[in-house]
Amino acid sequence: MLTVSNLVKLYGNEKALDNLSFTGKSGEIIGLIGPNGAGKSTAMNIITGYLAPTSGEVEINGFNIQTNPIEARKSTGFLPETPPLYTKMTVYEYLNFAAELKGIKKDRNKCVKSVIERLSLEEVQNKLTGTLSKGYRQRTGMAQAIINNPRLLILDEPASGLDPRQITEMNSLILSLKSDSLIILSSHQLKEVYNLCDKILLINKGKLLFSGTSSEISAGLKNKETAMELVLSYNGVSADSVILENGFAITSKTEKTDRVKYLLTWTGKSEKKDLLISKLLEKGFSLVSLKLRDNNLEELYLKLTEEKK
Ligand code: ADP
Repeated sequence: MLTVSNLVKLYGNEKALDNLSFTGKSGEIIGLIGPNGAGKSTAMNIITGYLAPTSGEVEINGFNIQTNPIEARKSTGFLPETPPLYTKMTVYEYLNFAAELKGIKKDRNKCVKSVIERLSLEEVQNKLTGTLSKGYRQRTGMAQAIINNPRLLILDEPASGLDPRQITEMNSLILSLKSDSLIILSSHQLKEVYNLCDKILLINKGKLLFSGTSSEISAGLKNKETAMELVLSYNGVSADSVILENGFAITSKTEKTDRVKYLLTWTGKSEKKDLLISKLLEKGFSLVSLKLRDNNLEELYLKLTEEKK
């Protein structure tokens, strides 16, 4: 369905994309994550044909986006970072115009009405798009992206500007669209990406650092490194040496008057932490709390983006 091969985008001497390759098929949601400036929007703009790459290729349904843009874009929907709304049109007029641009002739009115209903835009359909709140702007942008039932749907930060309820609704909508489409979305909400996406691509400085499923992330990290947050009540004696002697690395340490909080990582078995706790208690330290860090994607993200700095 989608093949992205060796994309490079240069801005002057800066490489916004550095040899990015991946594939996707219908029924999948692919999550693009990475720090600001990583190259996510650049990749999405190239895939949808809004930007030309310096080199590399994109093929959608067998059509090359550069040599066959009309065919390639026919079944594509795109929600850019800033939805391209015409501020002097009402929501209804804008969606009608978007449908016209996408070549929808038959039943256009029905199509617009159905997308208005799907995105719960009834209340604002006669308002000018320029007067909409951020949440409604985002939903109107989403409506134009899905109006042609695209087989490839690209969403640049679809949750941006939405409140928690709207985010849940947006996620349900995305899930309802995936059965016969390939969806690619970018987001900073790692937990949501982890739960929503079938495949995750981590990009930094234009390079693909990791690609895998949520379960591959969990499996990969469990065998390598585990992290926990440990809070001890502070009795004036440092616990550092006990921690280090027992094979733990101290990622961070925050001291307050009566307590000290450690972020620790270790490799190997989970029982190692029980051993550490009993050693600490033996030495007279008292435990305030212990939390295992279970967001594996967050761990991976922090680890990989830190290492490649
Ligand atoms: P992300 O979406 O991951 O935040 P972008 O794709 O927007 O990242 O940007 C990737 C890099 O390309 C950044 O370093 C950014 O400054 C640079 N960049 C993006 N657009 C332009 C442009 N039009 N001119 C010059 N540099 C750009």
